[in-house]
Amino acid sequence: MPEDRRSRAPQPHPEQTGGTAAEPTSAEVGRRLTPFQAVNLQFDRAAELLGIPEDLRISLKTPYREVMVELPLRCSDGEIRTFSGYRVQHDNSRGPMKGGLRYHPEVDLDEVRALASLMTWKTAVMDLPYGGAKGGINCDPKTLSDGDVETLTRRFTSRIERFIGAHEDIPAPDVNTNAQVMAWIVDEFAKYHGHTPAVVTGKPVALGGSEGRESATGRGVLFATERAAADMDLPLEGARVAIQGFGNVGSWAAQFFHDAGARVVAVSDVHGAAFDGDGLDIPPLREEASKARRIPEGAGAETLTNDELLIMDVDILVPAALGNVLHLRNAPDVQARLIAEGANHPTTPDADEEFRRRGVTVIPDILANAGGVTVSYFEWVQNLQRFRWKAERVDEELRAMMDTAYDSVREMATRHETDLRTAAFALAIERVAEATHLRGVG
Ligand code: GLU
Repeated sequence: MPEDRRSRAPQPHPEQTGGTAAEPTSAEVGRRLTPFQAVNLQFDRAAELLGIPEDLRISLKTPYREVMVELPLRCSDGEIRTFSGYRVQHDNSRGPMKGGLRYHPEVDLDEVRALASLMTWKTAVMDLPYGGAKGGINCDPKTLSDGDVETLTRRFTSRIERFIGAHEDIPAPDVNTNAQVMAWIVDEFAKYHGHTPAVVTGKPVALGGSEGRESATGRGVLFATERAAADMDLPLEGARVAIQGFGNVGSWAAQFFHDAGARVVAVSDVHGAAFDGDGLDIPPLREEASKARRIPEGAGAETLTNDELLIMDVDILVPAALGNVLHLRNAPDVQARLIAEGANHPTTPDADEEFRRRGVTVIPDILANAGGVTVSYFEWVQNLQRFRWKAERVDEELRAMMDTAYDSVREMATRHETDLRTAAFALAIERVAEATHLRGVG
């Protein structure tokens, strides 16, 4: 991943349309693609399959609005630091725009654009009445005090408040943001527009958050994996699973795989991976990791690196950390038969091609990790109805929506004899294109 990221830094500003004539194959340009270009390459594969004309493709790929704001902050140590805040609103033809906010030093406009467009395709795959958006601040919250993070969040909110709203664009947690950050946004937004819980999702339950939202992405990863594994005749009971990332998505996914009887043999965070061939005891590990804010040193029988985890001899691999971790150089060594993308864009187009060639099943991010935005949708519905659902109802409805989406993607894959990612994009593009067509241009 570091090489991929370094190599993209000096890139010229990407074209918003992601390129037009004679799109080069991913094998030719793979490592030089920016994240937005990589998403658009996936888009074009599917658009080609559907015979979508070029003028409509350009319209569907181009973001609706991009907001970038300066965020100066006098930190609690006295230093003034200036950050950049972004909100890219990609498409609203199917409803208000929806997507997370991430706080990470590598956040930049191109990546936020890529993530915003992924949200458009993700909400469409799930058939949620939303478009797509994403935002972020290029800060490292680990180097900031809690007070600094609060001030930064409030400043960001005050600078984008006119562009977001319950019927316009609804942020949610993503990498390094959580229910507390959403609570600060609710409070700051209220100063301009009155108390509006539905302006964000992933809130604390006490402020109108939904039961089951925090665990939803991890739960959805399990639901999607169960369906794909059944199609492959791969019993989940006893299956060896490696999970990269032990944040919200990875640690909940580990819990659910463990509960389903799988053997979670490795989990990792930025410091490295804990491994146990007999399976890790996930519940106490989650508890210790949440206290220590990292996987405790010496957990498991052995310690491995993140790179080693990705190429371990397992049945199922769940990349649940950052993007571009599966690339041209390690994809040939990946041994898993099934990859469930808990993170957003963890697989580069080159790696994707390698997995297609070898018949490795990849459940794409826009399906595998869509449990989060699906329960966000339930939260928003509850807020608009001033009504609360019980946890059981949330989990049941999530299961039903994941199953329906999986069936539709599988059906599309069979119809076009293609892989699940291309099929998921095709399904999403069909839905967004139809809404765009019905609403008319302008
Ligand atoms: N950040 C999550 C994602 O990438 C959730 C977005 C949301 O709930 O709006 O899907």
